[in-house]
Amino acid sequence: MTLQIKNVTKRYTGKNEVLAVDNVSLEIGENEFISIVGPSGCGKSTLLRMVAGLESITDGEIIFNGKKVEGTNAERGMVFQQYTLMPWRTVLQNITFGLEVKNIPKEERLTIARKYIQMIGLEDFENSYPYELSGGMQQRVAIARTLANDPQIVLMDEPFGALDAQTRSMLQNHLLKIWETDKKTILFITHSVDEAIYLSDKVVIMSARPGKIKEIVDINIERP
Ligand code: ADP
Ligand code: ADP
Repeated sequence: MTLQIKNVTKRYTGKNEVLAVDNVSLEIGENEFISIVGPSGCGKSTLLRMVAGLESITDGEIIFNGKKVEGTNAERGMVFQQYTLMPWRTVLQNITFGLEVKNIPKEERLTIARKYIQMIGLEDFENSYPYELSGGMQQRVAIARTLANDPQIVLMDEPFGALDAQTRSMLQNHLLKIWETDKKTILFITHSVDEAIYLSDKVVIMSARPGKIKEIVDINIERP
C-alpha cells in the first residue's frame, strides 16, 4: 500500500468561494497510523474525503498504489463520525453486507464478520438490531464493518467525536489492538491533540489558516 498526496488543493466554488485545502503534500506508508489534527474548519475532512474519492480534487493529485484516485473504492475504507448502519439489518448482517457485495461465500463471510465482532467485543449482540445498541456499540459495529472489508487503508473522520469520554477511550484501545494485530494502515482525523498523540505514529498538524500543513511530528512512544 502506498498513498501519495501531491500538491493537492481544494477550492469549493459557489456563492462564497472557500480555499479548503491549500497545496498539501503527504505520504503514507504501509502499517502507518497517521493522525491529522487541527481546529475545526482547517480542511481535515475535505482532505480525507478526497483520499476516499468522495470529493473532487481542484488541483494536484492523489496516487494510491501507483494509480490516480478517481471515485470511491473498497480498498480505501471510510469510517464516518456518524455511524451509518442499516437499521433493518442485524449487527452480523450489517458487517457481512460489504462481503456479500464482493460475492464472498456465506461461510467465509460469517467467519470474517465474527472475527471482527469478537474484536469489538459484541459477541452477544450479533443478532441485535442497531436501535437495540448504545451509540458506542453502534460505532463499534461501523468500525468492524469497514475493517471486515479488509481495506488497504482505513480512513477515519473523527470516528469517536460524538462519543462520551469513557466510550472513546475504550474504542481507542480497541482500534490500537486491531491496528497492531491486523497490520492495518490508518489515516485518522481528530481535533484532539491528545487523541492524535495517543493513537498514532505520526501526527500531521494543520494550521488554523485554512488548508495548510504546519508541522509533521513523529511520535515514538512505547505502548504498554
Ligand atoms: P475540518 O474537517 O477541519 O473541520 P472541513 O474540511 O470540513 O474542515 O472544511 C474546510 C473548509 O471548507 C471550511 O471553511 C468549510 O466551511 C468549507 N467547506 C467544507 N465543505 C464544504 C462544502 N461542501 N461547500 C463549501 N464549503 C465547504
Ligand atoms: P456507550 O458508552 O455509548 O453507551 P458502550 O459500548 O460503552 O457504549 O456500551 C454501553 C453498555 O452496553 C455497557 O455499559 C454495557 O452494559 C453494554 N455492553 C457493551 N459492550 C458489551 C459487551 N461486549 N457485552 C455485554 N454488554 C456490553
